[in-house]
Amino acid sequence: MERQDFLVFIEQTDKFAVGIFRQFRIEERSDKVILIAPTEAYKKWAVEYIKSRVFNYGKSIEVRSAEEKERENYPSNLIERYNFDNFVVGKANELVYKVCTEVGRYPGTSFNPLFIYGNVGLGKTHLLHAIGNMAKAHGYKVIYSPISDFSDEMIAYLKNGQIEAFRGKYSSVDILLLDDVQFLSGKERTQIELFRIFENMYSKDKQIVLVSDRHPKDLKDISDRLISRFEGGLVIEIGLDDETKLSIIKQKLILYGMPLDDKVIRYIFENTGYNVREIEGAIRTLKVVGIKENQKEEKGKDIRFVVEFTAKHFKLRPEDIKKESKERRIINARQIAMYLCKVVLGVSYVEISRYFGKRDHTSAIYSVKKVEEKIKEDRKFRYMLTFLERQLRKEMET
Ligand code: ADP
Ligand code: MG
Repeated sequence: MERQDFLVFIEQTDKFAVGIFRQFRIEERSDKVILIAPTEAYKKWAVEYIKSRVFNYGKSIEVRSAEEKERENYPSNLIERYNFDNFVVGKANELVYKVCTEVGRYPGTSFNPLFIYGNVGLGKTHLLHAIGNMAKAHGYKVIYSPISDFSDEMIAYLKNGQIEAFRGKYSSVDILLLDDVQFLSGKERTQIELFRIFENMYSKDKQIVLVSDRHPKDLKDISDRLISRFEGGLVIEIGLDDETKLSIIKQKLILYGMPLDDKVIRYIFENTGYNVREIEGAIRTLKVVGIKENQKEEKGKDIRFVVEFTAKHFKLRPEDIKKESKERRIINARQIAMYLCKVVLGVSYVEISRYFGKRDHTSAIYSVKKVEEKIKEDRKFRYMLTFLERQLRKEMET
């Protein structure tokens, strides 16, 4: 019914034009009407037609071609808010940034495949979407997919006996953006299908961008031929330096509507590691609870408790892990103690480092990062820590 509104309107004024508009798909919305032209030529005609008349339809009129519309509706999975404009650039990420803008604008021409790796929270996913958004704006067909989704999708197609359809879908894209490629590990069938898609796209100069938390050489349980493809283009690391971290903190404070106060900036800087997600979290918390101060003594007591707890678990003395040591066993316990201070107590890196006799907060950041890495890689270690954490929380309650 509604669909006729626009045609009725045209018919009243122009019997000739309505015949042409009948060949359009017409989408009536509450605030506008979208005319989807069967071809580019029709689109051009419609645009001219509307421009050359005093039009009083009461809603705005948009004209698209069917091809454009299809591309728009294509399930790219892109997040629009991740773009190049709101990505803060500094020393440790400017090269990656430049490469990404190049790939987004001229996919398949210079860096193919592009492999970006680095720790969590450094903006890898953000950049992948930024590439996709830019390319999409220039008319390229883009698919963004975390590798685990890619794998689930493949299995679903496979179960339905439609693996050809799966391959077909990926053979028509201009840019494939694959996130968290480390999760390919052990997924043999997914690797086989990805290899096919890779070869197919590569031979047609279609762009492939891969993101991972580690260098291709450090990926585990992934076929050699796939690894060698990953390494075949540009492999580049993304990092974060102090200066960039500072700029990011300022940008995020503005974004969250907070004042650019020196004390606040320093507080965030010292209480977060090299991880933008953590910075965002800290600012959000700060917005709600404000800066916690005058709790130093209290915190000192808590940290001591954690250190004693950790020491006891590893059959060491607290003073052993408070000092630096070369002994593997002690380094390990010391790092775990620092990690527990961070996640269970939520105290700042500065406070942790200070307690462990370090003037510089980076030593605590480093230790926490080491433990996080081990949690990711080593299942036994992960169980042990989950247990420790739970136990510690229980003991702290009593
Ligand atoms: P990764 O994929 O490397 O773990 P993300 O891309 O998910 O990290 O980034 C985590 C959060 O930090 C996102 O909200 C992202 O927008 C933001 N972020 C990361 N790097 C930057 C940057 N350089 N400038 C602005 N925001 C950033
Ligand atoms: Mg990510």
